[in-house]
Amino acid sequence: MASLSLRKLVKRYGHGAKASQVLHGVSADIADGEFIVIVGPSGCGKSTLLRMVAGLEEVSDGEIAIGSRVVNTLEPSERDIAMVFQNYALYPHMSVYDNMAYGLKIKGLAKDDIRSRVEKAARILELSALLERKPRELSGGQRQRVAMGRAIVREPQVFLFDEPLSNLDAKLRVQTRLEIQKLHRELGITSLFVTHDQVEAMTLAQRMIVMNAGRIEQIGTPDEVYAAP
Ligand code: ADP
Ligand code: ADP
Repeated sequence: MASLSLRKLVKRYGHGAKASQVLHGVSADIADGEFIVIVGPSGCGKSTLLRMVAGLEEVSDGEIAIGSRVVNTLEPSERDIAMVFQNYALYPHMSVYDNMAYGLKIKGLAKDDIRSRVEKAARILELSALLERKPRELSGGQRQRVAMGRAIVREPQVFLFDEPLSNLDAKLRVQTRLEIQKLHRELGITSLFVTHDQVEAMTLAQRMIVMNAGRIEQIGTPDEVYAAP
């Protein structure tokens, strides 16, 4: 596990006269194990920030460090990060076990290591009895848990959540939110969670980052943020 440090992050899209700057020096120190929720209006740069941490988007200026390791130039696969997206697409023809194991097989992990990681994730997510099923034989909530299992088995130092609940119906949204809280209690992985839902932010955040137009306007506990004038 590790802290996450964002240092004067700048992002420009495009070049020359067409360049537009969407992040203007974003800095934050996130403690080891902290759960941070990032909120802010559409287009303020939340997703760009997350994608930069994941290594899916180049950093124009500034630095990202996980623990003491600066990761700016590392490939996504070398960053010890797992990202959970809105779109929880599972491989329909693969079993639950294989859905969770797939990324590890690609990485070339030893079979025994893969098996023990998948079994551990399945225990935490209460999927142990379902490992041989196909996605179509699962409930919506179970599918969500398999998708999270795919992220957990990577044993990342940082979790990134890009509005993972926004496409779910109300019941599943609450279920999955509780599941994410439970996961964080058990694994304590440093997490960045983007949402535009205030209830999600208040219930999940240890601290919130409020962004606007490519800048951080406020960082604090939900109480501090919502108490501010
Ligand atoms: P949010 O996640 O807060 O809605 P984004 O990070 O998606 O915001 O977008 C921030 C700004 O960057 C927006 O103005 C968006 O149009 C712009 N942007 C995002 N991706 C690209 C891209 N690939 N090329 C050019 N501009 C982009
Ligand atoms: P392979 O690499 O060919 O998948 P494994 O020996 O890892 O070989 O597993 C064979 C199959 O058995 C897997 O594809 C998976 O569907 C299933 N399997 C492996 N371990 C478990 C397990 N702990 N629980 C349920 N199914 C498993």
